[in-house]
Amino acid sequence: MSKKMIYADNAATTKLNRDAFEEMIPFLLENYANASQPYSFARKAKKALRESREIIAECIGACPEEIYFTSGGTESDNWAIKGSGISDSLKRATITSAIEHHAILNACADIERLGYPVSYLPVNSYGQVSPQTLFEWISDNTRLVSIMLANNEIGTIQDIHSLCSIAHSKGAIFHTDAVQAVGHIPIDVKALGVDMLSASAHKFNGPKGIGFLYIKSGTPICSYICGGMQENGLRAGTEDVASIVAMAYALKSNCDNMNKNMSHLKSLEDVVISVLNKEHIDYLRNGTNHLPGNVNLSFKGVEGEMLLHRLDLKGICISTGSACDSQNQKATHVIEAIGVADEYKYGTIRLSFGSENTLDEAKTIANAIISILKS
Ligand code: PLP
Repeated sequence: MSKKMIYADNAATTKLNRDAFEEMIPFLLENYANASQPYSFARKAKKALRESREIIAECIGACPEEIYFTSGGTESDNWAIKGSGISDSLKRATITSAIEHHAILNACADIERLGYPVSYLPVNSYGQVSPQTLFEWISDNTRLVSIMLANNEIGTIQDIHSLCSIAHSKGAIFHTDAVQAVGHIPIDVKALGVDMLSASAHKFNGPKGIGFLYIKSGTPICSYICGGMQENGLRAGTEDVASIVAMAYALKSNCDNMNKNMSHLKSLEDVVISVLNKEHIDYLRNGTNHLPGNVNLSFKGVEGEMLLHRLDLKGICISTGSACDSQNQKATHVIEAIGVADEYKYGTIRLSFGSENTLDEAKTIANAIISILKS
């Protein structure tokens, strides 16, 4: 019998909620009409779009007309940066952080090439952006501030409310990449104060290739994908109704079970840490105020990539925070930004648990790491 796989890479993607999948089927096989068509056959698709928008809006404390469907986190991030960061010829500057996902960093590199300046805020050793530093860096010329809500590698959750207030005090728009956070921790866009927020369904047990951008009513933004008049004329393209319905279902289901999931994920983290501590393993745990289920560890004198492959041989899926080519070992930009010491940084791995992981699985992973480190 083949050994059971243990999947602990939920920050990369999550398993599709089976009931959400069932919700998709009628919109693929029966009610497949283009939701923009005026005839009665399109009514069910249109209604499903409206209801999905309402469900998603309620889950994050928004109004339905503030939810814009996109193809996922990467598109939402690109839209936020390029659609708002360069829409004013006077206020031209963007501020982001050094530990953003490449969907933000590479979108910022694009606008820099167009002549719009971007500054990259440093973080402390826990991966926190300091509101004081933002206060010192921001100017009347700042158009957009984009800081992620939770980091995808080390799981650090930022003080978005404080950062957002500073941006607003200088008349800047505030965007947050909440791709890792939506569906995992409580989010209320009005309480946070943000103008835009990116989310991606496959990170909260929805399908891949679908997501949304929350845009607060009145936020100045131009469209990023041009064509037809879908999404209030701001995001063209025939809507993927089936995926949108499944996204709404998965998000609601995650939000309904959030407290239970959060405490289960915390227990899984605790199991890993206590097994490692019991064996006196020398490691650093990166980040602080972690996303539930995130355990990012740096081990002294080993290669993260070696750990990943050896765990893979044992049927365990995790991620690394480093990579090596034939000549060089490289830590990720996040591990570099938090300043992990050289003797630890190449030995960085990320475990990201999901609600389906068991305490036994967490223990198995920790023991597998220990046995590799000792061999
Ligand atoms: N932003 C963050 C923080 C992410 O973790 C990811 C995916 O890993 C993305 C953006 C990109 O999302 P998507 O895979 O939906 O394009």
